[in-house]
Amino acid sequence: MDPKHTSQRCPRCGLVSSKNRKGHLFRCKSCGYASNADIVAAVNNKQVYLNTLLDGHQSTCPEAPASVVRCKPTTSVVGG
Ligand SMILES: [Zn+2]
Repeated sequence: MDPKHTSQRCPRCGLVSSKNRKGHLFRCKSCGYASNADIVAAVNNKQVYLNTLLDGHQSTCPEAPASVVRCKPTTSVVGG
């Protein structure tokens, strides 16, 4: 995804529109989701990052990226 679009993409419905953003405020034209534009950008960046990880690892957790933390592979090395 183009990084410059991360602050224009709705993390709820995925709509990408420059009209979604107004200064520091984000308000989705489609679903009405509203938040701080910087937070929206951070959320989108995080999703892209996690999706990249999931793609590379073929994780056992196909669920939403938010759950990736719970899906960490169990440590097989005990002690050390
Ligand atoms: Zn939306």
